[in-house]
Amino acid sequence: MLQKIKQDIIKYGKLAGERNLSPGVSGNISVRYGENIVITASGSANGFLEESDISVIDFNGNLVEGTKQASKEKLMHIEFYKKRNDINAICHFHSPYMSAYAITSKAIDENVLPDIIYHFNKIPIAQYSVPGSEKLAQDTAFYFDKYKAVLMANHGYVTGGKDLKEAFLNAETCETYAKTLILSKILGGAKMLNEQQVEEINSMNPKQ
Ligand SMILES: [Zn+2]
Repeated sequence: MLQKIKQDIIKYGKLAGERNLSPGVSGNISVRYGENIVITASGSANGFLEESDISVIDFNGNLVEGTKQASKEKLMHIEFYKKRNDINAICHFHSPYMSAYAITSKAIDENVLPDIIYHFNKIPIAQYSVPGSEKLAQDTAFYFDKYKAVLMANHGYVTGGKDLKEAFLNAETCETYAKTLILSKILGGAKMLNEQQVEEINSMNPKQ
């Protein structure tokens, strides 16, 4: 089981690297593992992970297994899992288009694409705090009650999913959507859906 989780983290980390979601040694990935969390180590490159780059921590952030210290964003991962029983995997990335929104402190809340409204509603932005701090974890966690993707001001973004594949696909979808929105501005800006059209989409969502 643990071995399979580590292999999955290596697989999706490599994909994140190939798709430029996780440049250099930025970002981190984790998977819930019973009472513990399997998480990439501090300073590891998601695109080139080895098993030794993956650690196991408990919900207090203590190292349970592994030789390297867990990612310094571990507190944010812990808070996300604490808030959401339906979330079992988390991706935190510094990809270019989502980071463009993050550094300009802009939430992604335009009603443009039905599938984005359906799956994400909107992507709020949490206020800036020092990376790895308890305050950043708390400020970002504030949005985890309602949202599965959250921008982090002057930093990057985080997504959750029921498993690692879903968390990764959510991250990839966010990045592609951010790129689409930015491209649309070159063409004069996206045409918004109206209130009724948004309601129609939300009424299809069983979670509403
Ligand atoms: Zn980060």
